[in-house]
Amino acid sequence: MKRDSDCIFCKILDGKIPANKVLQDGDSLAFMDIGPLADGHVLLIPSEHYVTLDEMPAESAAAMLKHLPALTRAVQKVTGCEGVNVLQNNGKIAGQLVQHVHFHIIPRDVGGAFQFNWPAGTYPPGRAESLAGAISDAL
Ligand code: 5GP
Ligand code: ZN
Repeated sequence: MKRDSDCIFCKILDGKIPANKVLQDGDSLAFMDIGPLADGHVLLIPSEHYVTLDEMPAESAAAMLKHLPALTRAVQKVTGCEGVNVLQNNGKIAGQLVQHVHFHIIPRDVGGAFQFNWPAGTYPPGRAESLAGAISDAL
């Protein structure tokens, strides 16, 4: 298993520091976030150490992400929340503090402390089309 001895989530995977575990299999672990944005905030991580999502083999990502629907349902059922955000911070600029890939499953309710700033823009003519082509070519 790929591990980083300095990584806090690898330490949780190895049982070196405690966590409130929700689900574990050979590919992934889900556990309660120690600093929840809302009651029931869960983290889903791969069992191997990858810093960012783009580093992950598709098969490892798929094996972890298959748990997202059931985890989301369980969080909703237990907390009674109105909605859920699934969030993945990739890189420091995007707010990633822990350098091991993780997905946040965050219960959302009216009046909750967690808020998004979502300043949607617009594309000038042709820009979306050229970006779509460039991104498609980069796959
Ligand atoms: P990021 O900002 O990297 O997307 O989020 C990292 C998350 O990991 C934060 O929500 C933080 O509360 C959580 N976290 C950091 N250290 C620990 C820990 O030792 N145990 C648990 N359970 N969560 C942690
Ligand atoms: Zn790690």
